[in-house]
Amino acid sequence: MSATTASVIDLHSRTLDLRLAQEDRAEDVGRLAADDRLTCHVRGRWIHQCVSSSVHVNPVTRHRWCRDCKTELSVAVDELTLTVRITCPRCGDGHSAATNSLVRACNASLSQAVRRAA
Ligand SMILES: [Zn+2]
Ligand SMILES: [Zn+2]
Repeated sequence: MSATTASVIDLHSRTLDLRLAQEDRAEDVGRLAADDRLTCHVRGRWIHQCVSSSVHVNPVTRHRWCRDCKTELSVAVDELTLTVRITCPRCGDGHSAATNSLVRACNASLSQAVRRAA
């Protein structure tokens, strides 16, 4: 690994750590809704890197959950086009308010992470 690569990775993880700390504080004081976070405090990653983890599945709030099929929604992250798609593997749908805000947060964290790393 070259020195240049290492410093980009350092910068990248510092940006993530900073963002995590800021969002934790903002959420604690009620200025930020959990759905609007671009980072995941459970595993300390950008939300688009973590959203496929099972901790993001919640049948009650319908985060990553298709109620009709009682199935976890699958996540496709495209780092080239900066798009995240969350769909139900059974019916191909899975839309809900929770899915929409999750997709919005993932798209934002993806472009944030890519822009900072560049
Ligand atoms: Zn997470
Ligand atoms: Zn479905």
